[in-house]
Amino acid sequence: MDARQFEEFGKAVVDFISDYTENLREREVLPSVEPGYLSELMPNEAPRQAESWQDVLKDVERLILPGVTHWNSPHFHAYYPTGNSYPGIVGEMLSAGLGCIGFSWISSPACTELEVVTMNWLGKLLGLPEEFLNCSDGPGGGVIQGSASEATLVGLLAAKEKTTRRIKTLYPDLDEGIIKAKLVAYASDQSNSSVEKAGLLGSMPMRLLPTDDKCRLRGSTLLEAIKKDEEAGLIPCYVVATLGTTGTCAFDVLDELGPICNENNLWLHVDAAYAGAAFVCPEYRHLMSGVNYADSFNFNPHKWLLVNFDCSAMWVKNAGCLIDAFNVDRIYLAHDKQGQAPDYRHWQIPLGRRFRALKLWFVLRLYGTEGLQNHIRRTIRLAQQFEDFVKSDDRFEIVTEVSMGLVCFRMKGDNSLTKELLDRLMKRKRIYTIAANYKDQLIVRFVVCSRLCEEKDIEFAWNEISSRATEILASKNQTAKINRNAGSAAAKEGGEIVARIQGLKIDAKENSQKIS
Ligand code: PLP
Repeated sequence: MDARQFEEFGKAVVDFISDYTENLREREVLPSVEPGYLSELMPNEAPRQAESWQDVLKDVERLILPGVTHWNSPHFHAYYPTGNSYPGIVGEMLSAGLGCIGFSWISSPACTELEVVTMNWLGKLLGLPEEFLNCSDGPGGGVIQGSASEATLVGLLAAKEKTTRRIKTLYPDLDEGIIKAKLVAYASDQSNSSVEKAGLLGSMPMRLLPTDDKCRLRGSTLLEAIKKDEEAGLIPCYVVATLGTTGTCAFDVLDELGPICNENNLWLHVDAAYAGAAFVCPEYRHLMSGVNYADSFNFNPHKWLLVNFDCSAMWVKNAGCLIDAFNVDRIYLAHDKQGQAPDYRHWQIPLGRRFRALKLWFVLRLYGTEGLQNHIRRTIRLAQQFEDFVKSDDRFEIVTEVSMGLVCFRMKGDNSLTKELLDRLMKRKRIYTIAANYKDQLIVRFVVCSRLCEEKDIEFAWNEISSRATEILASKNQTAKINRNAGSAAAKEGGEIVARIQGLKIDAKENSQKIS
């Protein structure tokens, strides 16, 4: 493909994306394909001869779109949002176009420097304490990871190295392997699956501690677990506090957890993957009160802040701890500006890294603080609109306090009704919501996800849900009526049989009396 064809192809794809986006509302949010559908439609081998881009683009519509779940549809209300915006998309394109790999400052200075600048901007926008920022006097700073999962693992590995060094200083004769085998980590039983996975990958048992009636991890629970492990000869090392849990968007009580972590030398990592975006609005910052105790903080602009996946923002108070844990040097990686700017390969798991800061920069500049705040506030307003619908219908109940863009609700009565509701919604594919459990209750998680979502989409979703509920209750009433009728018919028939038997008995008695 030469430059002229690239221009034509690129422009056609931009048209395609914009057309796809603007008409997303019309598509069914879930695809109707079966596993293996694509292998059946595709040739077994890659083509020998180059094909035309026009044919390939036609096949995107013909083969690919039928198998796509439309995460950015205004009818997508499952999981949490995946960030998407035109500035974000263009940032992705430009990153691919420049194609640099910024593992060290010299490997592409702008790649590192734009990341430093945008992470300082973003940290200030969230109201994070100065110490987390690269522009402060201290050793803190921000880095863009690929995902919140990676950030949690990076925090765990840094905590592991830091604790091992501390114990080794206290007990120089103790074998490093023995120290590492005694380390323990803590999170709540509501933390994301990726937190437990970080424990698995980092070979550190992750205790999933019980939460209070609002699904929050409390200080007293953590303290009890730490004491128990210490008494068993183990070494508490790492705590993950979640701000905005995946199930119900609950906020662990950082103000209580933080001092305990600091006093007991535990690394405190804050996972605010989804809800962290809300801190661009000052009125939500009280929910991160206690963040000053944290060693690392992470949230995903690629969730609720309009930046396309992947862009997970992580800040640490002491970047030296990451470098201690991950620094492996080779002569071919060295350069003469070392130490004057971050070499981000020491802050992450892979060596190579994409120019992710471009899309973040584009979104920050093309929305501005006000645009981002409007986006967050609008989403929360739409969730409240949905909450009002649920509250106005006494067949339903709100299960946990509505938090950010998430509404957890259920049909009153036993779980089978909510299960039936979820099944029917899934079958019809008009909207997409998912299930969760809360204290033995099956609940529906309804999240305002898409930036395209408007009031009319919330009305659409509510009509869909309430109509399905009407159907379910009508069919239950019908069944109950049939059962009742069948019951009274059976009772009537039963009565006749009894009467007949009694009649027979009387006849038999009379006959036997006659015979005797
Ligand atoms: N933490 C929380 C609280 C989440 O809700 C999620 C995903 O929804 C994650 C972590 C994982 O995020 P990622 O896919 O960026 O690893």
